[in-house]
Amino acid sequence: LPVVAIVGRPNVGKSALVNRILGRREAVVEDTPGVTRDRVTYKAEWNDRRFSLVDTGGWEPDAKGIDKSVALQSEVAIDLADAIIFVVDAMVGATATDEHVVKLLRKTDKPVFLVANKIDDARHEPEAYALWNLGLGEPHPISAIHGRGVADLLDAILAKLPEVSAVAKHEIGGPRRVAIIGRPNVGKSSLLNKAAGEERVVVNELAGTTRDPVDEVVELGGKMWTLVDTAGIRRRVHMQQGADFYASLRTSAALEKAEVAIVVLDVSQPISEQDIRIIDLVLESGRALVLAFNKWDELLEDDRKGGDRRRMLEREIEQDLAHVAWAPRINISAKTGRHLEKLVPALETALESWDQRIPTGKFNAFLSELVAEHPHPLRGGKQPRILFGTQAGTRPPTFVLFTTGFLDPGYRRFVQRRLRELWGFEGTPIVINMRVRE
Ligand code: GDP
Repeated sequence: LPVVAIVGRPNVGKSALVNRILGRREAVVEDTPGVTRDRVTYKAEWNDRRFSLVDTGGWEPDAKGIDKSVALQSEVAIDLADAIIFVVDAMVGATATDEHVVKLLRKTDKPVFLVANKIDDARHEPEAYALWNLGLGEPHPISAIHGRGVADLLDAILAKLPEVSAVAKHEIGGPRRVAIIGRPNVGKSSLLNKAAGEERVVVNELAGTTRDPVDEVVELGGKMWTLVDTAGIRRRVHMQQGADFYASLRTSAALEKAEVAIVVLDVSQPISEQDIRIIDLVLESGRALVLAFNKWDELLEDDRKGGDRRRMLEREIEQDLAHVAWAPRINISAKTGRHLEKLVPALETALESWDQRIPTGKFNAFLSELVAEHPHPLRGGKQPRILFGTQAGTRPPTFVLFTTGFLDPGYRRFVQRRLRELWGFEGTPIVINMRVRE
């Protein structure tokens, strides 16, 4: 899906606009400064066209950090969105911070929509037109809270938004898209350099391979791959506060453009909450997943010294990563090159599963056998039954079960486990939806 990002200073009404576009209250307006949200990407729809909406405003810094924070927001938006909405508080007018954002936004050739917010009635429209002098083209006067002008704004955006994401355009027959993600210092850029080679830039000059300068087309295992947002891997967030938020913003935006994610973990340290949050972002995005346990050389070194890091790691994997036990795991060292040849087979396995389609006949044969062997437990004297099922989609595999009554979560997990036992689906999340007929 094409990606639209919203940037702007704190309190100009970014969240209110997100709510208005989504037509629901989900992206609650956060009044507390410093609030962090993991969720920054939403599926939106307007006039039957779907797009992803990225809210860059999840972390609102104190006055001193504002310039830096909007600069980071803008950077992510410029790198990873197909169109950018820049929100200004028209009742305040353009501030020095706004001018700073304008300078950044002028550098991109992606469409930028200047939004003059808080124009609650026509009397205030002159305030909006004063923003012409920012040099970003026509200001769009809106009231995010009341909805005024938002329909016109969306029409204008969709008219300029590409049908598919700039990167996705190369999808058909083109290289598959991989995001290398993970918390800082786990070895992402080392892996990139070792696996793809420091000289890989040359590949980018092949005509028509890639347009987005943050992505690179590289050769791995004799095949071409698009690595999305490699700029984000090299560029570090030099900001103590909010660094997590900007990293997760970048991760979410990169996942939007990827088909499969390599989550890099550092085995020399305990698996952390941040690692798990990153894996959860992959699950939420529905992308295929490969887990790369990096710095394995340090684990071997620890073994030699009689340490027990290996045993600890095994326990952490069992406890914290049980929900992604289906993801291929490779134990690598970006430093020594150990087992890097396993990366491409793991990616291929995960993508094959992500694309896999089970014919409806086979799927229903599986369902009837499963139901005959293990019927759903009785609930209030009734027994929910699965009448019929079909795979409604791929990428990731999505199934629909037509049932008489809701299936218990435990039973749904059981169905999912059996599906994996029979068909593998190694490396992909599976979605199971239900349609209940009473
Ligand atoms: P990034 O922030 O995830 O991109 O991490 P870097 O690639 O910059 O690596 C962080 C640090 O870990 C650097 O000092 C690397 O030299 C080191 N490092 C990366 N991979 C390995 C590895 O496989 N083994 C060891 N021992 N160190 C590594």
